[in-house]
Amino acid sequence: MDARSQAIGIDVGGTKVIVALIDGTGAVRDRVTMATHEQAGAVAGAAVDGTGAVMSPADDLVSRIAAAAAELVRAAVVVPVGVGCATTGHVDATAGTVLHSGLVPGWSGYPLREKLQCALVDAGLPDLAVAVDNDGHAMAIAEARYGAARGHDHALCVAVGTGVGGGFILDGQLYRGRRGLAGLVGHSTIAYRGRRCQCGKRGCLEAYAAGPRIVDEYRRLVRAERLGARTATVERMQDVCALAEAGDRVATLAIQRGGEHLGAGLASLANVLNPSVIVIGGGVLGAGPRWFDAARDAVMARVRHTVAVGLEVVPAALGSDAVVIGAGLMGLDSALG
Ligand SMILES: [Zn+2]
Repeated sequence: MDARSQAIGIDVGGTKVIVALIDGTGAVRDRVTMATHEQAGAVAGAAVDGTGAVMSPADDLVSRIAAAAAELVRAAVVVPVGVGCATTGHVDATAGTVLHSGLVPGWSGYPLREKLQCALVDAGLPDLAVAVDNDGHAMAIAEARYGAARGHDHALCVAVGTGVGGGFILDGQLYRGRRGLAGLVGHSTIAYRGRRCQCGKRGCLEAYAAGPRIVDEYRRLVRAERLGARTATVERMQDVCALAEAGDRVATLAIQRGGEHLGAGLASLANVLNPSVIVIGGGVLGAGPRWFDAARDAVMARVRHTVAVGLEVVPAALGSDAVVIGAGLMGLDSALG
């Protein structure tokens, strides 16, 4: 593959979509970012397709992504060789279908590859090979090839944000599992009678370690210490981080506990998979060393001593671009056939 070849990479997240041109060195050449959900007023107007028929929310999202991609390609004056699309949710990469996702109505069961391929042609692009997968897998692909897992044949990559996702590199390859679902790190059980997870089950890692759950933990600790008035302004993970930065003991404790829970879950996975590196990324990485160190220390304290030998626990190197870079690399790979 010519390093100058470019593919369209698409990262479909819960709040925003990044469409970018990615080259064979994993560099982001150009990008546009848009909201996943249209403004309320625009939705009320109901999007229509070329025939005037009202489009479903899923079709509308794909049509907006295709238009953004076509505009990006025109402005950059390049001919992309392929397209990779990574979406939040459960994806069958072989069938090209979203199996489960609450992103927009109709996203569960959506034939994403086929629909995206048609929408890109409708937007004026050539008929390109399209690869689809979930965002955790895309992150793992990018970190393995150009990030913190480079040179490792056995890597466990995890992204902690509003949820906890990930991907495993085993024997140098992304391990997808039977339906492409391998890597649902957030729903591994760390307390089987524990807190209720958004998936409906109890005690999932995500119910303790995701960003919003760290905010919950802060509020719980404040209530326990009868410091009620302090919770009013704390809505987001960034608020808890700012408090910790300012020396707040309770905020620091909540962040450390989130990291400890994450580390405990990752230690179980490390015992099962025996990786040489665990790469931790996602938005919560912004909480800094007090969170990351707690996670790393919990991993090292809990893995078997034989598994710990030579095991590195490191922050993701590609930051919030990892998913879109991985998606672009999927597109380049699909063009290779
Ligand atoms: Zn769960």
